Amino acid sequence: MTIGILALQGAFAEHGYMLDKLGAEHFEIRQRKDLERSFDGLILPGGESTVMGKLLGELGMFESIREKIQRGMPVFGTCAGLILLAKEVEKNPSWFATMSIRVKRNAYGRQLGSFYTEQEFKGIGMIPMSFIRAPYIEKVYDDAEILAQIDEKIVAARQKNQLVTAFHPEVTDNLEVHRYFLNMIR
Ligand code: GLN
Repeated sequence: MTIGILALQGAFAEHGYMLDKLGAEHFEIRQRKDLERSFDGLILPGGESTVMGKLLGELGMFESIREKIQRGMPVFGTCAGLILLAKEVEKNPSWFATMSIRVKRNAYGRQLGSFYTEQEFKGIGMIPMSFIRAPYIEKVYDDAEILAQIDEKIVAARQKNQLVTAFHPEVTDNLEVHRYFLNMIR
């Protein structure tokens, strides 16, 4: 099994370390020709969604990735990656728009921009969650399912081949969300 990690900007290297610990092959997707390589799953990292979306367009990678996701390639979006997948982004245009979620960017305000907590993740149990200028999911619809919630804010969800977290599992030492993603591929 090989995972492609989008590596245009943001926290992509950390995902590679997690996959190394789980013994999964991976490579970085930096340009259009990297998308011709064969891979079984895709990670969209955290960073700045507007910058990543713009680069995807400029590098001519946008349509090809969108098609792969629509055809069922397992994809894991963290934070900015979550925003890229959402069909609805409050006060912003959507990007891939493949996942039935409505998202609010920078949703915790300036003071609480970054924080750490522990919370229940459906099918895993309690895990550490690290939030960095994070979005949250206001609403899931169609067959999208809530996997984790903090108060009334949804922070993880899945819809078929798409998994998203508003937090960054790759900056903790807990491998379970990445393991969950690899199990979606198997
Ligand atoms: N605030 C960023 C955005 O709106 C997301 C932050 C992150 O990925 N850590 O794209």
